[in-house]
Amino acid sequence: MAHSHETTARKVGDILGKGPMMQGLGVRTEACEKHGEFESTGSRFLGTREIWTGCPACAAEEKAAAREAEAQRQAEAQRARIEKMISRAAVPTRFIGRTFANFKATTEGQEHALEVAVEFAEAFHEKHKRGLGLVFSGMPGTGKSHLAAAILQSILDKHSGLYTTAMGLIRMVRATWHRESDRTEEEVLAMLASVDLLVIDEIGVQYGTEGEQTILFEVLDRRYCDMKPTILLTNQGKDGFRDYIGARSFDRLTETARWVSFDWASYRLQARKDAA
Ligand SMILES: [Zn+2]
Repeated sequence: MAHSHETTARKVGDILGKGPMMQGLGVRTEACEKHGEFESTGSRFLGTREIWTGCPACAAEEKAAAREAEAQRQAEAQRARIEKMISRAAVPTRFIGRTFANFKATTEGQEHALEVAVEFAEAFHEKHKRGLGLVFSGMPGTGKSHLAAAILQSILDKHSGLYTTAMGLIRMVRATWHRESDRTEEEVLAMLASVDLLVIDEIGVQYGTEGEQTILFEVLDRRYCDMKPTILLTNQGKDGFRDYIGARSFDRLTETARWVSFDWASYRLQARKDAA
């Protein structure tokens, strides 16, 4: 009888000075519809009903499913936050409307730069799969930003993209260091690494501190490892650019990025001369 078990067990509990105790009911073989036979262990806390353990394989499956659902929920939440960040800053307003059609190409060099840009945009699906990028090098006003913005806008219907300056990128990451920041540094780095096409303008405009360069390297390194295309815009020549981003990043970049020289005078300067 249950009653006599209880009485005996309580006596033992009293002797041990631990109050109510658990009573083991032994082991019996049970069958799970899915996993077949398993050993079930029974127990009962005094005064409650018997509890027999369920199928361990089912328990493991449920646990794994719960873990997966939680990971999926977190990934989904991060993706939503990333999409919100991107949609807020895909292309700066001043570059909207800069297209291939309204890029002025009159010299051979300009024709070449335009061709490379159009080809990159048209074959973006392929470039994207292989992580191929571009480096546009030239003085301010030579149309680097114009072509980079044109490429970005042409792929935004099917891909995600972001246009930023080196300093803007660094500030974006640094802003997460404030306690009130609603995003973590990892989230911002993940966003910068995961966006399909990242354009970084104004690289090497000013000498970067070590901390600034570290952030830039981190982003370039992640994109290199994930084979994501990046377009880098710089006013530096090859040597200055190598000095700025470091030899290691430079070597990796030359593996995957095509160097395009915008070696003509500024359009703005030219327009002023023409007007004079
Ligand atoms: Zn089972």
